Amino acid sequence: MKKPLFRPIATTLICSVFLWATLCALVIGVIQAAYTYVHVQDEFETAVREIGQTNVPLLSVNIWDIEPEAIRRQIEVVAARQEIGFVRLTVTSGQVFVAGNNDLASRPGRQFEIPPPGRAGGAIGRLEIVENPHAFLSAVLHTVGLALLGYGVLTALICILITYLLKRELERPLRQLARFATELTPDRLTVPLELERGPGHGRDEIDLVVEGFSVLQTGINNHITNLDEQVTQRTAELESALASIRRLSTLDPLTGCFNRRYFNERIQEELERAERYRRTLSVIFCDIDHFKQINDNFGHLAGDRVLQEAAECFRRELRAHIDWVTRYGGEEFVVVLPETSLGAAVATAERLRLALTDCLATTLPDMTVTASFGVTQQQPGETPQSLLQRADSLLYEAKAGGRNRTLPELRGDRPV
Ligand code: GH3
Ligand code: MG
Ligand code: MG
Repeated sequence: MKKPLFRPIATTLICSVFLWATLCALVIGVIQAAYTYVHVQDEFETAVREIGQTNVPLLSVNIWDIEPEAIRRQIEVVAARQEIGFVRLTVTSGQVFVAGNNDLASRPGRQFEIPPPGRAGGAIGRLEIVENPHAFLSAVLHTVGLALLGYGVLTALICILITYLLKRELERPLRQLARFATELTPDRLTVPLELERGPGHGRDEIDLVVEGFSVLQTGINNHITNLDEQVTQRTAELESALASIRRLSTLDPLTGCFNRRYFNERIQEELERAERYRRTLSVIFCDIDHFKQINDNFGHLAGDRVLQEAAECFRRELRAHIDWVTRYGGEEFVVVLPETSLGAAVATAERLRLALTDCLATTLPDMTVTASFGVTQQQPGETPQSLLQRADSLLYEAKAGGRNRTLPELRGDRPV
């Protein structure tokens, strides 16, 4: 949407002030004109009264003495008054004297019957006086013009003063405020809003806006800081949850040993590393003997307990952080022994076999638990499947041979 044309606040206010001032001046001018009209009317009435009291008696004498020159002078004296436009004296003998503006001769005016000097009754002449219309006009022009001129100058001065004050006290701080708000970025939230204002003013609305800005900045800043803290806290919680999910996803929930999925991922790396550094690596495949009978005789929970105890026993007997145990199936465990030859692995398997029976004899004395073991050593280029297959075959043979025994692979004609 197109923005409306920018118009400074000072200009708008001054235009309004000027319009209102002009309107007020016009109203005052009309009132002044009406007052002047009444005043001019009063002056004419006063002039008429004065003429009746002073000029009419003199004219009466002049007419009676038949002194035309004196009559003419009197008439001109009367016509010379500012309020009088035209004067006509008609003497009963038929003589007519006029003075003033002849254009006004046809206008109606005031009439005086001039009596003979010292006597009442009868008339020796008639004096007509016509008002001077220009007197009203010039009086109006004079007074109203003066008033309008005065108000105009005053209005202009006030407008100039208001413009200056508005620019200094309102427009400049508002512009600075607008610039500050436009340039307000998250990294500038701690920069306070400081306006350049002239001296000599107390705390006013502009200061309220500045204080409001300060509160707003602090609020936003706190909010952002809070958000940062929350994000950091949530990230730590998520990372911890992710680590625990990763750990759980690699472990068997019943025994705490590694699960088969983890075994499949890690055995490949172990074999490659052993091959790369030309180290020996052996694997023990273990299966608890007649486990089904344990379940059948002592219950499934007791069977679970046997599995947990067996796992715990294996972990205790093995080297921490080097050897690792996987629950490969129901009651089957695979032990990976890095840096271990077949001979050492067989010895370890035997140790596990004896320890398992001993441990369980202590913790579960009602039952006799034994296990069978198949032991192999990694051969060059061998896959995990092949290694495990060989160990499983040996385990099968151990079972077939009577259980509760360790069967190592044969190297040549004899066991290693
Ligand atoms: P063998 O000596 O030939 O190994 O005989 P076995 O009875 O141990 O082997 P078999 O495969 O016949 O039976 C294994 C049993 O293990 C069957 C199954 O119900 C049980 N089993 C598998 N997983 C669990 C488990 O998590 N808890 C319990 N309690 N039993 C399990
Ligand atoms: Mg089995
Ligand atoms: Mg079994």
